[in-house]
Amino acid sequence: MQKRMLGNTEMELSLIGFGGFHLVETPQSQVNELLNKYLDRGGNYIETAAQYGNTMSESKIGRAVSSRRDEFFLATKCLERTRDKAAESIDHSLKNLNTDHLDIIFMHGVQSIDISETILAPGGAMEAALEAQRQGKVKYIGLTGHGQPTGLIHAIKNYPYDVLMTGINYYDRFNFPDVETILLPECQKRGISLLGMKAIGDGYLYRSVKTAIRYTLSQPISSLVLGINRNEYLEEDLAIVDKFEPMSQSEQEKLFSDALELGRYVCRQCGKCSNVAEFDPAEIFLLEGLYDRQMVDGYISDPAHYALTERLKHWFGHKDQALAKYRKSSVKINPEKDYRHLNSYCPYGIDIDRKLKLVHHKLCDDDFIF
Ligand code: SF4
Repeated sequence: MQKRMLGNTEMELSLIGFGGFHLVETPQSQVNELLNKYLDRGGNYIETAAQYGNTMSESKIGRAVSSRRDEFFLATKCLERTRDKAAESIDHSLKNLNTDHLDIIFMHGVQSIDISETILAPGGAMEAALEAQRQGKVKYIGLTGHGQPTGLIHAIKNYPYDVLMTGINYYDRFNFPDVETILLPECQKRGISLLGMKAIGDGYLYRSVKTAIRYTLSQPISSLVLGINRNEYLEEDLAIVDKFEPMSQSEQEKLFSDALELGRYVCRQCGKCSNVAEFDPAEIFLLEGLYDRQMVDGYISDPAHYALTERLKHWFGHKDQALAKYRKSSVKINPEKDYRHLNSYCPYGIDIDRKLKLVHHKLCDDDFIF
């Protein structure tokens, strides 16, 4: 498998990292088979979290491949925010993973400025991570988060983390554009190494797996962590990266225009309708991204897709933030008003009039059935 250096570290990681989240639901015998096959085929980065299945994922990984510890880099995550609890969590992780050191310990889910500050405050989790580093229990200290990157941006501006891992995919880039326009460039500027996750949008891009993986691997990341719980998924992922070539800018533009999941509904934030009304529709659609990732389009879909959408739309937990922002905003959509003149400006064929009204009802949290 192709490898890339992880930023300024000495670690050279395989393009695909093995994510441990789905090992919680996978029997141990299958975990053994999958992880050993991944290592045999050139994979060298395994990542999990203390939180996954209440340490179950870590324990399964420990049982499966700790005898091959010198063949891979190992990372886990700590959800604790105080020094004492984080120190305990790191020690438990080492025990569960049956190893004496971690290559990376991630501060897990830095989703807000408050979390970022608590970690760095006196008595916060960072003190435990630094102590573990001094003791040789961990090499690098990283952080993770997904969705709106407010907490991550605050964190990297306030501490020189070594590594950052976040969700990157061609769908959510339009819901959380700050990831690609602010967070990633800031990390590059500060020499913070980057890892990607959620290339398939938590499963939402299931019809376009190859394209989705290719898109994310074309961003400035060293390795893409994929959740793998079946042999056929592992084979499919390996086949994709075996032939990996970065997507050109024009290919990416074409993808943004034609992607099935974006269709004629998801706002691409192109700005073409921004200066023709007394407000900017793109700003309203950003709030919709925060609310439900622009997944509920009000059209009838097949039951399986509907169920998937229902499961994923509030996955990142930003709904209340979106409602509060709309409540406070001086811009309110009038559901009685005709906004159809805006439709002709959209190069993606979005019915802006209809979408604005639907979004208004979402953001008023009313019982309106569209
Ligand atoms: S023109 Fe369409 S894609 Fe562009 S900002 Fe407006 S609604 Fe979004």
